[in-house]
Amino acid sequence: MASPAFEVDHAFPDDDRLYETLLQAQSDLGDGLLIIDGHRIVHANAAAARICGWSVEDLLALSSVFDLIPLDEQRRLAHRLDRAASLERIRNHCETTIVRRDGRRIDLELAIQNVRTRGGSRVIVVARDITERKQMERTLRSSEARYRLLFDSTVAGLCVSTIEGRLVQCNTAFARMLGFATADEALADPQADLDLASPDGGAILRALQTSGRVTSFEVPLRRRDGTTAWVLGNATLLDRFDEGPTLVETILIDVTERRVLQAQLHESQKMDAIGRLAGGVAHDFNNLLTAIQGYSELTLSDLGSHPLRLQIEEIRKAAQRAAALTRQLLAFSRRQEVAPVVLDLNTVVRAMHQMLRRLIGEDVELVSRLTEPLRRVKADQSQIEQVLMNLVVNARDALPGGGTITIETEHVRVGRPEARLFPELCEGPYVVLRVRDTGVGMTADVQAHVFEPFFTTKSPGRGTGLGLSTVYGIVQQSGGHIRVDTEPGRGSVFSIYLPPTPDLEPVRREHPAEEAPCRGTETVLVVEDEEEVRHFACRVLERQGYRVLEAPHAGAALRLAASHGGPIHLLLTDVVMPKMGGPVLADQLSRRYPSMRVLYMSGYGEDELRDHGFAIGTALFLPKPFLPETLARRVRDILDAEIARHGRPA
Ligand code: ADP
Ligand code: MG
Repeated sequence: MASPAFEVDHAFPDDDRLYETLLQAQSDLGDGLLIIDGHRIVHANAAAARICGWSVEDLLALSSVFDLIPLDEQRRLAHRLDRAASLERIRNHCETTIVRRDGRRIDLELAIQNVRTRGGSRVIVVARDITERKQMERTLRSSEARYRLLFDSTVAGLCVSTIEGRLVQCNTAFARMLGFATADEALADPQADLDLASPDGGAILRALQTSGRVTSFEVPLRRRDGTTAWVLGNATLLDRFDEGPTLVETILIDVTERRVLQAQLHESQKMDAIGRLAGGVAHDFNNLLTAIQGYSELTLSDLGSHPLRLQIEEIRKAAQRAAALTRQLLAFSRRQEVAPVVLDLNTVVRAMHQMLRRLIGEDVELVSRLTEPLRRVKADQSQIEQVLMNLVVNARDALPGGGTITIETEHVRVGRPEARLFPELCEGPYVVLRVRDTGVGMTADVQAHVFEPFFTTKSPGRGTGLGLSTVYGIVQQSGGHIRVDTEPGRGSVFSIYLPPTPDLEPVRREHPAEEAPCRGTETVLVVEDEEEVRHFACRVLERQGYRVLEAPHAGAALRLAASHGGPIHLLLTDVVMPKMGGPVLADQLSRRYPSMRVLYMSGYGEDELRDHGFAIGTALFLPKPFLPETLARRVRDILDAEIARHGRPA
């Protein structure tokens, strides 16, 4: 029995039926078919009518196929049809637009072919509606264009890389982040590839592989010049439809400056907190040391050649060392009394050269490289000397096998980026004092702590850890800035930036006061809540012959003054006391004793006193701790000045 396929012969239709069946099949698939003679439609299938929104009859009734075509398309299509009509067996594909009966424009893909038949030459047009596809293409193109625009013009760095980190595509912002001028430059340089094999990169890679996306990671990237850029980023594994390597799209923003600022803020907050602590401790110590030192002095001057003398001298020496220590702490916490004068740093460096030379020993060379002429700065000379000494001593300690220490001065202009980074720096000129050594250098970890009090890497007895904290405090107090550049094995450079003074201020030198006798018989009212300090001050003044009235607080002082018959020449008072402070007391007392002079004493520095509402200004002030001679000298000087002005009091 034959299969149906072999029965085709019997069922094979005649030519016309074949023709119709073909047309029907094509129409069923949705493809329109027109047969055109000249420009007239002589045949149209149902699909063609459906596509155009006309009936078959209407199509056949059109005088020209061009009635379907919008004007702007007509010329192009006419050309194709005419070409098709004139050439044998030329198949022609094109796309065009037609206007449907309802006015809607639709896109068609056309296959145009010329067929010669018995009746002459005809053009067969097969038309397929591709409106939807064209629409999708347009949407895709515009979304691609938008993506391109975003990619190229965003401030964020964008890149596409293989999962191994090899760059495939990147934008200008990404290139700039890494120090390249253009995206092409970055793409051409393997150095710009993402190092996803680094420890941070490894974690990102694993997360990408498990979840396809990683957000808000912060990693360091190496810039072209070797420095590090910190970036915050999101990365997404891209879907791949072909065989190529797995790709990752990464978007990054540069947070280097933010990180540095954060670290800077953290650092200054830390130093501030330590400063407060150190300053507080030092302040209380000062009161105690005033008493210890003072009584040792008093006892020693009473003892003569007593056998206990040696022991008391030891107490005095220990107290002196303790006072030196508190001075360093006070310097760090910026509570040290300072006497800023206009200074030429070169002069200070030169004057100290000999002393520093001796300090550092034979195998270390000391070189000065000074800029002349150097702009002046305003600073406390003995503080600057201390800074130089501490830095040079550290440099020497960093040179166990010998080497060179260089002291430099120069003019530096601080730019806006640096000024933004360090609150104590302003944009503009600075005088820089630099101490450079060729020694062991520091690790980043040591560098992070060097300015903290009591931080030392030296063995006990060799280092106190107070050298650099003192330097730090002094520099801060002078309105300057200190930075250290160092690397293990490559030496260290400490640079101190000080603002220059306006050039007009002259250099001033301190003249030591000539010695004169300190004794007197005037009446001094001593008001101080710290008992040790008060007793000590009173004893000192009594020994110098003064008549001393003693009060533990302002209330007692007012009562004492009210009941006191004679004059009060001088009020020696603490500034900060419970209930009523020295300035208010002085104010009230001077109504009764208008010619009374006032000498304030305090363990606080100028800044803290200002916080307590007291500006030293022109007031007479004696910082604690003080030695007996200092107190006696100050009191005598003040009273003498008064006598010089108004004559000896009654
Ligand atoms: P100290 O000298 O008593 O240890 P400092 O405050 O002067 O205290 O210094 C703190 C630490 O800083 C030192 O112990 C040392 O580790 C480090 N340091 C300071 N200056 C230098 C330098 N020039 N080279 C290397 N390390 C230094
Ligand atoms: Mg030191």
